[in-house]
Amino acid sequence: MTSTRHDGDDWDLASSVGATATMAAMARAIATRTDRPIIDDPYAEPLVRAVGIDLLTRLASGELPPDDLVDRVAIDGAKVRTRFYDEFFLDAANSGITQVVILAAGLDSRAYRLPWPTGTVVYEVDQPRVIEFKTRTLAELGAAPTADRRVVAVDLRDDWSAALRTAGFQPALPSAWSAEGLLGYLPPEAQDRLLDTVTELSAPGSRVATESRPNPRPGDEDRTRKGLDSISERWRAHGFDTDMARLRYFGARNEAAPYLTGLGWTLDAISTRDLFAANDLPPLEADDLRMSDLRYVSGTLDKTPK
Ligand code: SAM
Repeated sequence: MTSTRHDGDDWDLASSVGATATMAAMARAIATRTDRPIIDDPYAEPLVRAVGIDLLTRLASGELPPDDLVDRVAIDGAKVRTRFYDEFFLDAANSGITQVVILAAGLDSRAYRLPWPTGTVVYEVDQPRVIEFKTRTLAELGAAPTADRRVVAVDLRDDWSAALRTAGFQPALPSAWSAEGLLGYLPPEAQDRLLDTVTELSAPGSRVATESRPNPRPGDEDRTRKGLDSISERWRAHGFDTDMARLRYFGARNEAAPYLTGLGWTLDAISTRDLFAANDLPPLEADDLRMSDLRYVSGTLDKTPK
């Protein structure tokens, strides 16, 4: 059983928050094999296989049909999310930004699969055991990065800016940042500090992309916990021991989009519902609490941060 989160807790890709990265990669593997994938992540399946959680491997490889464990919305959600960040990074890189920072990279293989312009440096930031596993496994698979990939093995609840600079990051140059599937796993004050640090390290012209979700209305948080509990029960019934509600930090937090706007970023936002429509995918159910209030945001820092 997953234990409650605490300061300084850490993980590999089979435990605690690390397993969510393996689940995200599993969803990309399933999405990549569908009839209309709209994304192509050839490394997702072998990475999940290497982590070694039997149920996730069988789902990622197609040996086990996703059925109710990974439903249609989860698969389409992985598609639109992956495509949103792929397009964000390629737009930024093709506009001349040469520094990319993927915060909480998990098993994201963008540094190996996107056609980065020559000279692009991609920094991948995550927990030490996550970073080490991905680097080693992709090397064993014979995969080579398509950019100058540099890894930063840190806890994002700590002060990570020195580690990023030590890896070569230059705050004087514009950069493109993502925090994909991360914020809910940070305590509220660590989320604010992370967005503050991104802003401090961003030269004018830098770009950012993340997800933004309003604080739940009264009652919704309980519904979300119950929803996560019933999903966890289903996973446990199939032999994968997880407790998703315990991995998150609940309670009030600043909403990412207005917080970033307050720091000087100019953002565009698109709802998950609209992303599904833009990609010609069947619509979300009105009461799907997983995604219906989630917005994907991206934007630019036009002026020197305060
Ligand atoms: N961005 C990846 C993706 O979309 O596939 C991974 C998302 S996964 C849901 C969450 C990731 O956040 C994991 O890789 C986990 O290790 C990372 N993470 C969460 N809290 C972190 C922390 N305090 N320090 C470093 N990494 C963290």
